[in-house]
Amino acid sequence: MSLYRDEGVVLRTMRLGEADRIVTMLTRGHGKVRAVAKGVRRTRSKFGARLEPLSHVALLCWQGRELDIVNQAEVTDTFRAVREDLARVAKAFTLLEVVDQLSQERHANPRLFDMLLGALRALEADDAALLVPAFCLKVLALEGSAPVLDECASCGSAGDLVAFDILEGGALCRSCRRGRPVSADALALVRRILGGGLAAALAEPAGPVVGEVDELATEAMEVHLDRRLRSVRASPTA
Ligand SMILES: [Zn+2]
Repeated sequence: MSLYRDEGVVLRTMRLGEADRIVTMLTRGHGKVRAVAKGVRRTRSKFGARLEPLSHVALLCWQGRELDIVNQAEVTDTFRAVREDLARVAKAFTLLEVVDQLSQERHANPRLFDMLLGALRALEADDAALLVPAFCLKVLALEGSAPVLDECASCGSAGDLVAFDILEGGALCRSCRRGRPVSADALALVRRILGGGLAAALAEPAGPVVGEVDELATEAMEVHLDRRLRSVRASPTA
C-alpha cells in the first residue's frame, strides 16, 4: 500500500464496527475518497473530533483498493462560527451534499475542491443570503450545465425573457414561456454571479430578488442531480 499526503474536507462519516468510522472526504488531489479512521470512536482516539463533517484537514493516508486508511489527520479549520449557528450549519450541509453527489471517487477536481473551501470560508465570515444559490450556479457552470440567460433557451429570441425552466435550458421569452415566472432583476443577478461578480453578489441583502434566485438555483441543481436535495428541504430557511 502506498502512502499519500493531501488536504480534504469531510463530507460525511459512517460507523464501522465497534470503534471505527468510514470518513468520506473531498480531497484536493485525489477527488472523493472514502477512508477508514481506526479507533476514531474511542474516547482517547488520536483523531479526536478532527474527522467530523465540515472539517478541513491535512491528511496522510494509506491508499487501499476500495477504502483508504487515515494514518494522520490535522485540522486546518473546523469552521467554528458555522458550527455554532444552526442556519449556517444547514447551508454548509447543503454544500457538502451537493459536492458529495457531484464528485467522483479518486477523480481529482481541484476547482470543485477550491470552490467548496472558498464557500465554507465565506460562510464562516458571513451568513450571506446568496451563498448557497451562488455556489450551486457556479458548480453547474463548472459542470458545463450553466443555464442559458442571454436569449430564449427555446427559440433563441433576444426579446424579453419572462420565465425560467431549467428543463428547457434556462430563460424563456413571452411566446415560449413555461416553468416559473422570473423577473429581469433576478436574471441580471444570476448573470452577475456567473459572470464573476461573486463578491458583489454575496453582499446582496435578502429580499424578493434573492429569493427568486435561490429557488431558481435550487431547482436547477435538483434537476442536475436528478433528485431532491434532502438538506435543502430540511433547512428551516428553505
Ligand atoms: Zn422563445
